[in-house]
Amino acid sequence: MKLQNKVALVTGGSRGIGAEISRSLAKEGAKVVLTYYSSPHLAQSVVEEIQNFGGIAKAFHANASSFEDAQKTVDYVLSEFGSLHILVNNAGITKDNLLLKMTEQDWDDVIDTNLKSVFNYSKFAIKPMIGQRSGRIINISSVVGIMGNVGQVNYVAAKAGVIGLTKSLARELAGRNITVNAIAPGYIETDMTSKLTDAQKQAILNLIPLKRVGKPEDIANMVVFLSSDDANYITGQVFLVDGGMAM
Ligand code: NAP
Repeated sequence: MKLQNKVALVTGGSRGIGAEISRSLAKEGAKVVLTYYSSPHLAQSVVEEIQNFGGIAKAFHANASSFEDAQKTVDYVLSEFGSLHILVNNAGITKDNLLLKMTEQDWDDVIDTNLKSVFNYSKFAIKPMIGQRSGRIINISSVVGIMGNVGQVNYVAAKAGVIGLTKSLARELAGRNITVNAIAPGYIETDMTSKLTDAQKQAILNLIPLKRVGKPEDIANMVVFLSSDDANYITGQVFLVDGGMAM
């Protein structure tokens, strides 16, 4: 197992990509704290699934956009497991609309959940990481943060912001042996993309050279790699896991 004795914190681990990241990290031996916001039962079932295969996991209720909740989460991780080695900033939402129709609330909610959350959690997670002189921060951005997308100025601004934050923080923390990388998923089958119309799904499929949509496992595999010693010399990078969509 690649992550024995490591402690990982995954935001938004109750469903979709975050749930699969939590399972995959636990399968490699990491003790995992996964946060949830509105899905306590789903979070609990991810924890039970992990426990059923002999892994260790706990669920913690926290709003990723709350600075105070981020501090409480990191305090909880440290009180339960004594250290924190891997932070995966995964929590995210969409509130799509053309700019003409987008409300201020849609803008604020998406920026706060997808971008401010990365600031919140990184801010508190780096303290123990600096103390132990090692750590991994993996931020889930999106291929649209690179390409742009109609109807998503809020989401794309947040995801592009995550890439900028990743590169700056990677430079700040490199001297402390903490790596910071981003993953930019393409179209992954989860609740988030189930909202798309059939016509929208087909239009996206036409842009994917590998001619299939991605699965949460495709992203989780990259998270495990970036968390492991195999990725010791990689920082400040953005990994597109998108079936070739944005090459
Ligand atoms: P999803 O199925 O909708 O799941 C979203 C997760 O985020 C849930 O666990 C949800 O928890 C959590 N979350 C939402 N708001 C939160 C908040 N305020 N505080 C804490 N947790 C919150 O989405 P997904 O497709 O797995 O997406 C995961 C990440 O990948 C997101 O950052 C997304 O932007 C990114 N991404 C997804 C795709 C895709 O095609 N699916 C593509 C590119 C990037 P609760 O249910 O407990 O509220």
